[in-house]
Amino acid sequence: MQFIEQELKDVKQRCTEKVEGSEVEACVSAMVRVRIRRTKFKDVTVCLQFPKDYPNRPLVVELKSKTLPDKLLDGLSRLCEKECAEKHLGREQVLLTLKFVRTFIDENPLCVCSDEISRTKRMLSDGDDCKLKQKSGLVLLRACQGLYFIDVKLSLPDTYPEEQVGVELRGSNFPKLFNRIFMGNAIEIARRCVEPPIKKRPKDPPFVPQKSLLPVTKYLINDCVKYCATQVCALCKKACFPDDPKNVEKGELEYNYAEKVYCGHLFHYGCMDAYMKIPPFQGGKQCPNADCKKRIYHNKWRATPEVAEARWAHAQAKDRELAEVVDFLVD
Ligand SMILES: [Zn+2]
Ligand SMILES: [Zn+2]
Repeated sequence: MQFIEQELKDVKQRCTEKVEGSEVEACVSAMVRVRIRRTKFKDVTVCLQFPKDYPNRPLVVELKSKTLPDKLLDGLSRLCEKECAEKHLGREQVLLTLKFVRTFIDENPLCVCSDEISRTKRMLSDGDDCKLKQKSGLVLLRACQGLYFIDVKLSLPDTYPEEQVGVELRGSNFPKLFNRIFMGNAIEIARRCVEPPIKKRPKDPPFVPQKSLLPVTKYLINDCVKYCATQVCALCKKACFPDDPKNVEKGELEYNYAEKVYCGHLFHYGCMDAYMKIPPFQGGKQCPNADCKKRIYHNKWRATPEVAEARWAHAQAKDRELAEVVDFLVD
């Protein structure tokens, strides 16, 4: 008992100095409770109990946090107990354990999103990959579909999730236009997680920043790579992208160039161009996918229904004239 009394005194005196960001909440022989805070979200309360025969047996460790994932806390508690059992038997264990927790939080910046990382890993299939660079707070994601892929670097700021995850393209064999769409939307998805909407409706609850990593990985894996690489053009019923990315059409005005329209569906440029020039035009041309039918917006086809109608009528008249000339020549 004397040993514990001495250690408790020691903890009270030296904890704040020895363990950065710590605050002793309770320090009695029944329990030691210390809160360790690095940021608003990297905030954990360490509860320690002395077992019988202490210090010849390891401390009993329990971690609590309103912000860190439960699974991570469970794993870290077991790790603390293992450290005590393997390295610190026979001596004071409290400060060593608190220091161990602090170091873990400092050296594992991805601890705040360990739940999002495991959910991302569960979405992966053949060829996909998710590597963690724990010390630099990076997640390296590769998403594939057939021979198509994108490599993206996701970086977590220390203030995550209050600040959004950084998104950067490292490699891809999709056309440039698609890479721009993928990155632009991914950054926008992350931004919306942390910035309140400009137009607030009166009944909306107060805005709280949300974790942005999982929404971004979900979008990149499912809505970008898996979706785009397998899309079929509803007009010609053929794949929008060839099986081999080497054969992707790069010319923006070539027939087989893949286009993404406002609703998200993909078409061949040539198929869409022909479709946009035939009636009906009223109310704007609709997406040819039967279950979509949304109006088509695209900067390559900006004519209003009236202009499109007039152009079509003009083309028809020209065809008739031509037909008469042909008739005349034939007669
Ligand atoms: Zn087509
Ligand atoms: Zn559509």
